[in-house]
Amino acid sequence: MTKLLLKGGEVLLPNGQVKQADVAIENNVIAYVDDIPQTWQPEKTIHCSDKLIAPGLVNTHTHAAMTLFRSYADDMALMDWLQKKIWPAEAKLVAQDVYWGTMLAIAEMLKSGTTTFADMYFFMDEVAKAVDQSGIRAVLSRGMSGVTPTAQQALTESEEFFRTFHGFADGRITVMLGPHAPYTCPPDYLKKVISLAEKLGAQIHIHLSETEGEVLDCLKAYGKSPIALMEELGLLGHGVLAAHCVHVSAEDIAIMQRHKVRVAHNPGSNMKLASGVAPVPAMLAAGLPVGLGTDGASSNNNLDMLEELRLAALLHKVHELNPLLVPAKTAVDMATAMGAQAVGLEDAIGSIQKGFKADLVIWNMHNLRWCPRHDRISLLTYSASAQDVHTVIVNGHIVVDNQKLVTIDEEKLLFEVQQRGMRLVRDR
Ligand SMILES: [Zn+2]
Repeated sequence: MTKLLLKGGEVLLPNGQVKQADVAIENNVIAYVDDIPQTWQPEKTIHCSDKLIAPGLVNTHTHAAMTLFRSYADDMALMDWLQKKIWPAEAKLVAQDVYWGTMLAIAEMLKSGTTTFADMYFFMDEVAKAVDQSGIRAVLSRGMSGVTPTAQQALTESEEFFRTFHGFADGRITVMLGPHAPYTCPPDYLKKVISLAEKLGAQIHIHLSETEGEVLDCLKAYGKSPIALMEELGLLGHGVLAAHCVHVSAEDIAIMQRHKVRVAHNPGSNMKLASGVAPVPAMLAAGLPVGLGTDGASSNNNLDMLEELRLAALLHKVHELNPLLVPAKTAVDMATAMGAQAVGLEDAIGSIQKGFKADLVIWNMHNLRWCPRHDRISLLTYSASAQDVHTVIVNGHIVVDNQKLVTIDEEKLLFEVQQRGMRLVRDR
């Protein structure tokens, strides 16, 4: 499809206003929003009456293939969960498992309105293959740990992965370096990561200050918080997407502000693992771009970004006993335009405007949850369900059509992941 017209819908504009407008898509970009010239003729028209055309949701932090471990181990302390359950199961993963686990995650994300996700895992060639075939957009990082026998190999693989896949799949894939966290990547190792980032011109995706224990350990070992340590090492100057940032002080926020650190806030995961509540209102007040993420499916346990959007709007209100915090418009912005900023794609995606990539969701408002329609942004934040996703377009291509996946065989996918999930957790 090269020319697609979305006709008669209501469009969520970059200024937060909603207005009736036609949207013209040409190749992979939004060619016009309203004011379509008479001479422009579409090859296909989607009729959008009673529908809201909104930017695709941006999931700024996940580990997609961890869908394989969904419902395997819940309600445990983080280190118990990792050491007794997740790491032994992950040790049995083969490349094809990661392909299918990622494909399941992509299918779930597309059907719930996510058009871009930032991923950190391993067997990343398989992840790139699933992204390429499914049509979604992704920011991929090979997770690196400096305390395992594969530490050096992870650096080499990250470089190869960047050189092969940055800009791949019609530009839908971008690659960042993914040092896992300061507690798995000691300073000497992080220095190697920084040198590699400089050599490649790559940005960095890292977990920072997720738990209180991690911050206390870092203070004990280095006399600094994880954020201050990252500043001292020079890591923050490379375009950093920092996941979690739950236990950050006012000084940490000032450091993040100086280095324009972008945050992936994961309210569902932080609640489930009892990590704490990130100071999102303070980070937003400091002008930091705060996007939203689901984290991996085994610490959430779904990949529904609308749920994260709602949790972000609710959690900070109850935590600070202030109903004015993270209003609906801000929450929607975090899931779209600020999410795009967080993953470094603010000039390409996250809002519906001429010249931006055509990554859009068409929401069906003709249903009980959306009635009456006083305020569309309020409805999207507090009332809507992922089941209201009607059509999803990524890079100008329809990938969900009337709630059906276009590029993925859903039955085959369910069969594969069920078999593989069972094999991974079976005792040998
Ligand atoms: Zn994570």
